[in-house]
Amino acid sequence: METVKRDSLIIGAGLSGLSIAWKLKQIPGHSFLLLEKSDRSGGAIVSHAENEYLAEGGPHGFLDNCAESQELLKETGLDKEMLKAPLKEFVRYVCMNGKLRLIPQSPTKILTAPLISLFEKIRVAGDLFKKPLEGEPTVSQWVEYRFGKALLPYVDAVFTGTYAGDFDRLLIDGVMPGVRKIEKEHGSIIYGLLKKKKEMRQKGSSTSKGLPAMTSFPGGMTRLAERLRENLTDTEEIRCNCPVQKITKTEDGWQVTTEEETFIARNLVLALPVNPALSLISPLHTPPQASIPEAQIITIALGFGKDATLPPGFGYLSPEQEKRFCLGALFSSNMFPGRTPEGHLLLEALVGGRRHPERLELDDETLIKEAVKDLKQLLDLPGEPAYARVLRPQGGIPQLEAGYPTLLQWRNELMQKEKGLYMTGFGWEGIGLNEMIKTAFRVADAIQAGEQDAGETDTKVKKIYF
Ligand SMILES: Cc1cc2nc3c(=O)[nH]c(=O)nc-3n(C[C@H](O)[C@H](O)[C@H](O)COP(=O)(O)OP(=O)(O)OC[C@H]3O[C@@H](n4cnc5c(N)ncnc54)[C@H](O)[C@@H]3O)c2cc1C
Repeated sequence: METVKRDSLIIGAGLSGLSIAWKLKQIPGHSFLLLEKSDRSGGAIVSHAENEYLAEGGPHGFLDNCAESQELLKETGLDKEMLKAPLKEFVRYVCMNGKLRLIPQSPTKILTAPLISLFEKIRVAGDLFKKPLEGEPTVSQWVEYRFGKALLPYVDAVFTGTYAGDFDRLLIDGVMPGVRKIEKEHGSIIYGLLKKKKEMRQKGSSTSKGLPAMTSFPGGMTRLAERLRENLTDTEEIRCNCPVQKITKTEDGWQVTTEEETFIARNLVLALPVNPALSLISPLHTPPQASIPEAQIITIALGFGKDATLPPGFGYLSPEQEKRFCLGALFSSNMFPGRTPEGHLLLEALVGGRRHPERLELDDETLIKEAVKDLKQLLDLPGEPAYARVLRPQGGIPQLEAGYPTLLQWRNELMQKEKGLYMTGFGWEGIGLNEMIKTAFRVADAIQAGEQDAGETDTKVKKIYF
């Protein structure tokens, strides 16, 4: 069995691993190798082009409000290809009582819109008098305690749209650590946010940069992974069909074993979702929990002909209380051009998630039939779809539920203790593409500086968009 040596080994060629490789390649004289289990790079990013329709089995895009992602687009030249769908031009809807209700994109506008009653708005302001909620509350417990019940369906829709999650199980400390920090510092969220806004204004930095835009590419999100992959030399810098089976610590670094080869390096990066990372590290260090739950979603791409119409906007989400088959749907042909044959429209319905894993077992025919039935009750879609394809992603979305804060702390301490070990990727510090790029850049910087990564130390408030 041959032994291959590098300065750094990266396991996993999803966006996290590819972004780290992109940055390490810029360090003069630094050798690295990216090892990927499957026969393709990109991980959760899977665009599906068929019959002139272009759908996404994974991410549909990312917001243009993250400095690191913007840097990556510029460095790769993808800024010249990208397509942008500005949020300010596209409304979203939440399904309430069987009808789509338009949702404004800013918290102030949400509060002034007639979505909740005056009495409920007064209860929302009750946040000003609430003490921080102790312990590790779930998102729903926390929202109800601070703002009352009226916001629950809207918050449910947000976490259905982002995590495909169950807000009765997701922890507020896991999904919104920045907001929780404000609560602990100021008591009230409303007061804390207003104070922060004032401080920023006094410092001269603008607080209202306007709404960001959703970014993708003419060939879909796969283009991002392909561009990063193109930069790497086959076999020398990236190897696909190379599932890592075991990692071992050596005197001066790390040893990685696949079925056919052994690799050694000073630095080892696990650029993996939480669960595969835990299964590789567990024989060396026992984590506080063996795995975390994941929420799998199925995307059902549906094309309709000229007689169908869509309302303006990005799509809709449905809170659990509506008891609908689909979690929501993206109005994909409204977002980006070139996703359908001339005059057609494309919807991408989302099914399953943390609350409905049983729907993942349904056959394609049933999924399409049930999704179409559901959508026809909400939208103007006469006739049968001209195109239908069920996309079943391999992995799920990591769920930051009970035990997650302890697990994250364990990882951060482990990375400090184990020289040359870095753990980043899907679910560790967020679940979005921007977060993957941001943490990948931080890891690459730490490797270049010969330092350990401490995990995110400055938790910022993330803005919420439906
Ligand atoms: C259905 C869905 C929709 C999403 N929508 C959005 C969205 O609209 N916007 C957004 O910002 N984010 C979205 N996300 C999240 C986004 O896709 C992820 O943040 C991102 O793709 C994660 O990248 P990653 O490299 O960390 O992990 P992954 O993409 O999971 O990549 C990990 C890689 O590691 C490989 N691997 C695993 N085990 C081994 C092993 N033992 N040896 C070697 N290789 C291994 C896997 O094969 C995989 O290629 C979505 C995710 C899903 C699943």
